[in-house]
Amino acid sequence: MTARILVVDDIPANLKLLEARLLAEYFDVLTADDGYKALSICENTSVDVILLDVMMPGIDGFEVCERLKTNPRTAHIPVVMVTALDQPSDRVRGLKAGADDFLTKPVNDLQLISRVKSLVRLKTLSDELRMRADTAHNIVLEDMLKGVDGREEVGQVLLVDSRASSQERIVRTLKPVARVTAMSDPQAALFEAAENPFDLVIVNAAIDEYDPLRLCSQLRSLERTRFLPMLLVTELGADEVVVRALDLGVNDYIVRPIDPNELVARTLTQIKRKRYNDRLRMSLRQTIELAVTDALTGLHNRRYLDNHLKVLFNRASARSRPLSVCITDIDRFKAVNDTYGHDAGDEVLREFAARIRSTVRGADLACRYGGEEFVLVMPDTDAVSAASIAERLRDTIERSPFQLKAAGVAINITASLGISSNIMGAETPEQLLKQADRALYEAKNAGRNRVVAAAA
Ligand code: GH3
Ligand code: MG
Ligand code: MG
Repeated sequence: MTARILVVDDIPANLKLLEARLLAEYFDVLTADDGYKALSICENTSVDVILLDVMMPGIDGFEVCERLKTNPRTAHIPVVMVTALDQPSDRVRGLKAGADDFLTKPVNDLQLISRVKSLVRLKTLSDELRMRADTAHNIVLEDMLKGVDGREEVGQVLLVDSRASSQERIVRTLKPVARVTAMSDPQAALFEAAENPFDLVIVNAAIDEYDPLRLCSQLRSLERTRFLPMLLVTELGADEVVVRALDLGVNDYIVRPIDPNELVARTLTQIKRKRYNDRLRMSLRQTIELAVTDALTGLHNRRYLDNHLKVLFNRASARSRPLSVCITDIDRFKAVNDTYGHDAGDEVLREFAARIRSTVRGADLACRYGGEEFVLVMPDTDAVSAASIAERLRDTIERSPFQLKAAGVAINITASLGISSNIMGAETPEQLLKQADRALYEAKNAGRNRVVAAAA
């Protein structure tokens, strides 16, 4: 999908110029010649990045930016303020209004395109997070969008710069917004980056006797640092270096002499992007985990069992290895609920799961199958070994009473277990489970608190 850029400027020639440059890069472009039109476009259509002129009749760029950033429906759209070079105070005002980036007039092509692309990427990530939060109606995800507990931790920046004076200046500039580790040796910096959780690396392109782009390319290729954003500090007119750097995966660049506000804005944008990325990966992992985990006991759930048993069963068949399953069901569990309440029942289930976990090997798969039934899958385990493991589990349940903290009592619990192995003729994982289930049924009928193996 192509990104949609809204260009806002009261001078038609400026609009035309920016529009043409963006169209040449295949962006979808909308234009507005005053602030009110811009606000209404943002309210009513989806816009990915806004290029906003400062000086406009009616409401000026600062006010437009402020209104966008205070409206929950538009606050997430990145805003680039297009400011006049001779008015550095504009940048400070822009930052205060919530601008995400700056461009200076006359707008340089390379800067325009690289900045817009960088912000489009950022927007794509935050949109993805927001969409997930919407679908899940998940408060946790909403928090993740804002940062843990709604508060952002200060960013960790690694600065690689061999010149003491410039190092010192950058550290001082970033002090209010980030924790900066400054290093002069690029090789040492590479190790530092691989070993510590940085949010951004700032590389001075003028490192003495060393090609800074080599460091950038090493950072991109190392497993530990390949997602780490990079910001390059270059000299005016070093467009060739910048183009190569962007090709290598450098995320952004800044030209000397460094404008402190610009450095702060670009640093914060990259840190934000890194955090979004991290949260996306984390939320993906959590979503996957949630989908296959039983919330009460923390064991795998039935869905996971159904999928994974297939894998284990087929592998065992292919290698002619034994595989056993054990279904266990708590005896007279309904009575626990009836006597002590549902919460006490839940406590028993949790403790039961903990005892299963402590009894089985790491290679065994323990799942809550439903209600008070649990399934244990034991790879490389024949019927005889499975019987002894099941017996050990049965004993672990019976031997010591279950403490019910809420009710303040300890009660005796027993369980019945049915086991089956793949050598009993089961041709599918479903048959294997069915055999074990039948054995469990026999164990119940024979008086409970016992292990029964499926007949061969
Ligand atoms: P049996 O020895 O024949 O297995 O008797 P039982 O009482 O254990 O078996 P039954 O199937 O009659 O009852 C199972 C009970 O487990 C009924 C149900 O309310 C309870 N149960 C199922 N899931 C949960 C749960 O998540 N929490 C609690 N507290 N109880 C549950
Ligand atoms: Mg039961
Ligand atoms: Mg039952």
